[in-house]
Amino acid sequence: MKVLVIGGAGYIGSHVVKELMAKGHKVTVFDNLSSGLKQNLFAENDFIQGDILNTTDLDAAFGRGFDAFIHLAAFKAAGESMIKPEKYSVNNITGTLNILNSATAHDCKYMVFSSSAAVFGEPQYLPIDENHPKNPENYYGYTKLSIEQFMAWYDKLKGLKYAALRYFNAAGYDPEGVLYGLEQNPANLLPIIMEVACGMREKMKIFGNDYDTRDGTCIRDYVHVTDLAIAHVKALEYISSKNESLTVNLGSETGTTVTEMVEAARRITGHAIPADYVERRAGDPACLVASAKYAAEKLNWKAQYSDIDTLISTTYNAYKKFNSEKK
Ligand code: UDP
Repeated sequence: MKVLVIGGAGYIGSHVVKELMAKGHKVTVFDNLSSGLKQNLFAENDFIQGDILNTTDLDAAFGRGFDAFIHLAAFKAAGESMIKPEKYSVNNITGTLNILNSATAHDCKYMVFSSSAAVFGEPQYLPIDENHPKNPENYYGYTKLSIEQFMAWYDKLKGLKYAALRYFNAAGYDPEGVLYGLEQNPANLLPIIMEVACGMREKMKIFGNDYDTRDGTCIRDYVHVTDLAIAHVKALEYISSKNESLTVNLGSETGTTVTEMVEAARRITGHAIPADYVERRAGDPACLVASAKYAAEKLNWKAQYSDIDTLISTTYNAYKKFNSEKK
């Protein structure tokens, strides 16, 4: 298929592009390079530097004619969204509405969307399946939930068929080592741990150790970015072959605490990784762990690279490679 990947120069986007190419799809990347990197682009693909807030850019892109698109262009720092909600309203919500309007105007009716486990909020039961109540605890999660609802309306009114992929915590890097462009100013746990391990920052903070979990720190379900990339391609093939929308959770079904992740990183990297326990961060649920049963049933998908050692070692390798080339 001819696929437009919006946000394809970013961390998850570039891994999705690599997987699409491996499966023989023809890819064009659309990215404003605000956080995406030229280094993440593949020479074989067309690249459009454009912004989802600019409808002229979007119309020019969709005007080229695509069978499908994948939308990964969003801000994703849950903590920041509680302090700067307007940034998330404009980019995540307005930007996505622009995309929906331009795509449907140009008859591009298959969409794979990066949603998030943040749509659920504090769990009422575990593991979290697709039917779990949606009550986002941070504004970022609310933007994702509202976009899921917009897509459902565009399905009814415009015939858009979409896959909403609710990622749990994306982590890790390309196990083949082809992609190692690091995110600038990361806010997520594993990149912060790696910055400390690689001497790019002195120490890290662990946000809260008084949660009702086995060691008091938050539990998350970390899922490897290559596993997510594989799921995108399977989801695209599913919605286009069945002409049917799909909303699915993507996780490893394993919960890891923040302290466990830091300790595993100390073991694997051999670095001390100093960490201080500090106040809780606003908008953090204590525990998020996925049920991936539905993904297995519908997409024949199961996480293969998402064990903690692979997550940490592939990330550490990317950091070492990126930093050594910078020198
Ligand atoms: N976290 C932390 N220190 C950091 C960054 C994250 O203790 O510097 C914790 C955060 O409070 C949460 C977990 O790590 O419990 C995962 O956070 P992240 O921002 O990576 O993803 P989120 O779960 O918010 O999507």
